[in-house]
Amino acid sequence: MNPSVIAEARRLVVKVGSSLVTNEGRGLDHARLALWAAQIAALMEMGREVVLVSSGAIAEGIQRLGWKKRPKVINELQAAAAVGQMGLIEAYERSFRAHHLHTAQILLTHADLADRERYLNARSTLRTLLELKVIPIINENDTVTTEEIKVGDNDTLGALVANLIEADALIILTDQPGLYTADPRKHADAEFVHEAVAGEPALEEMAGGAGSNVGTGGMITKILAAKRAARSGAHTVIVSGREPDVLARLARGEALGTQLVTRQAPLAARRQWLADHVQVEGKLVLDAGAAKALRKQGKSLLPIGVVEVRGEFHRGAVVACLDESGRDFARGLANYSADEARRIARKTTTEIEAILGYVDEPELIHRDNLALL
Ligand code: GLU
Repeated sequence: MNPSVIAEARRLVVKVGSSLVTNEGRGLDHARLALWAAQIAALMEMGREVVLVSSGAIAEGIQRLGWKKRPKVINELQAAAAVGQMGLIEAYERSFRAHHLHTAQILLTHADLADRERYLNARSTLRTLLELKVIPIINENDTVTTEEIKVGDNDTLGALVANLIEADALIILTDQPGLYTADPRKHADAEFVHEAVAGEPALEEMAGGAGSNVGTGGMITKILAAKRAARSGAHTVIVSGREPDVLARLARGEALGTQLVTRQAPLAARRQWLADHVQVEGKLVLDAGAAKALRKQGKSLLPIGVVEVRGEFHRGAVVACLDESGRDFARGLANYSADEARRIARKTTTEIEAILGYVDEPELIHRDNLALL
C-alpha cells in the first residue's frame, strides 16, 4: 500500500465531527481535544500549517441546556449552537494554550463564501492567521443560517475551506475507521477501502445513507467532500479520531483510514470559487448539444441551448447548469437575469436584440465564467 498522502502535505485542514468532539453528545471530550491539540502542536513544530473545522456546537449546546433530545425547530437549534460554540472554543483555546498556541474563532456561512469579496477577505484572514502560527477554528455560523444560505454540514465546509486556502489535504476525523464497500453492520462481506481516487462514482454508491445521529453528515457527505476538495488539488483521508496518535502517524506517512487521492490538476482560483457555490439562486436546463459543448469542448453557453430557466436571479448571479437528465454539472455567472433568460432561451444570438431591445453579451454564460463540477 502507498504511504499516507499526508506525509507530503504542508497545509492541512482537519475536520472533527460532533460525535467525536462531544463523546456521542454526552459533553465535550476534553481529554481527546487535548490529545489532538498535542498532535497538532507537533505538526506545527514540523513546519505544517493546520486549520481546524470543528462541529459539535449544537450537540454541546443541547448538553449544556440540559435538553433530552435534539430539537427540530430551527431557532432552538440556533440557540443551542450559540451556547455550545462557547464551550467548543473555550475547550480548544485551553487545549492549545498548553502548547503556547493561540486559536482564532471563524464562523462562516455559505453566503460568506458565495460573495466574491467576502470570500477573498476570509481567504486573506486565514492566510494571515497561518502566517502568525495561530490555529483557526472554523464552524458554520449556525445562529444566522437558514436553509437557503447554509453549507449544511461540516464535511462540505471542510472541503470548501480546503479549497479556499488551497490546502494539500483534508483529514476528516470521524467515529468510523473509514469507508467500507458496504455497511459492515449489515453485510458480513463488506471490505475496508484503503485507497481510492476521489470523485470516483463507485464511491458514492458504497457510501449510502447517514450513520450516527449526533452530527449532520454520513459517509456520503465525506465522499462528496473529498470530491470537492480534490478540485483544488487536496487529498482526503477519512479516519477514526479515536485512533491513537492519528494525526502524528498520518504525518509520518502511515496509511491509516481511507485515503481518497486526487488526480486532478487544480482548478484556477476563480473557477474554484464558482464551483464551490453549494447553493444557487437559479438553474438552467440545457439541451444535449449545449451540455456536450460545455462539458467536452470548453464552449460558452448560448441562449439557444437552454430549454428551461428555473428560479429568480439577477445579471451576474452564479447559476447551476443541468443536463436533460437533471444532473447538475457546472456553475457559471449569468449575463442575463432570470426574466431575460426566459425570454431569450431557445433563441439564436442574433434574435436577442429584437426580443430584449438590447444585447449585453451574445452568451448567456461566457466560458471564462464557467466551472465544470
Ligand atoms: N455546525 C454544526 C455544529 O457545530 C455541525 C454540522 C455538522 O455536524 O456537520 O453543531
